[in-house]
Amino acid sequence: MKKLLFIAVIAALTPLRDAAAWGRLGHATVAYIAEQHLTRKAKANLDKYLDGNSIVYYASHMDDFKPQMLVDLGYTPANGPRMHMLPHTFSVGEDGEVLRGNRLPGDKVLANCLYYVEQSADRLKNHIREMDDSTRMACIQIIVHSLGDMHCPGHIRYPGNQTIGYFNVVLKGSEIRYHTIWDTPILQAPHPWSFSDLAYLLDRCTEEEQAAITAGDIYDWGRESAAVSKCIYDVKEGDELGHDFLMKYKPLAEAQLTKAGYRLAKILNDIFGR
Ligand SMILES: [Zn+2]
Repeated sequence: MKKLLFIAVIAALTPLRDAAAWGRLGHATVAYIAEQHLTRKAKANLDKYLDGNSIVYYASHMDDFKPQMLVDLGYTPANGPRMHMLPHTFSVGEDGEVLRGNRLPGDKVLANCLYYVEQSADRLKNHIREMDDSTRMACIQIIVHSLGDMHCPGHIRYPGNQTIGYFNVVLKGSEIRYHTIWDTPILQAPHPWSFSDLAYLLDRCTEEEQAAITAGDIYDWGRESAAVSKCIYDVKEGDELGHDFLMKYKPLAEAQLTKAGYRLAKILNDIFGR
């Protein structure tokens, strides 16, 4: 009975924990697509550094161990209760360009998810021999997770709209935080696919399409994500949303997962496939 109660409590808490990222389904899908496009050498190196585990296994660690990651990234809880979400998001300016940090009240700037991808990739590329096993593994986890986060439409902070969807709407009769819809429900409508189902269904771009998607750098990818995702704020607090909403925006969520998968493979091949 106690066990059942425990499971019920965990289940009740899960949407809250998911509220700051693609949910586990989205992150695992991105990692699985990427894994299909790793070079043999990159795959062998990752196997070695991840003790034989798949990158999919670690795709949500940065969410699952947020308090620890917070400390690892140099924050203290005194910085504010929402601080732990900032490394999972990024901001754009009026011109649509990615800001090199998230703007905080008082003109403070804090590193964003793109910065962590860049910094971790640089450390792995140039300093891998000086790193201990756990630091190396943390850097890989940060890249796998943050590259996914930066493609989630609910993770972009726009000028004049820093909400990242933290307001309530009504979805099919139930009140829900709008941000949460972009974590998992939109990916599971109308079918509750698994991550490997979704990856199978989405990973169908031609070589030419993949080359176009992976061209440029992460700042190009961030700018593009911000441009295509702004439309999600056509929805306002209190709006009543139904099946039509999910079907209208689902292709955007799926396209973002697919692009993130190919781009993650590119970054990992660049680091580990040499
Ligand atoms: Zn996250």
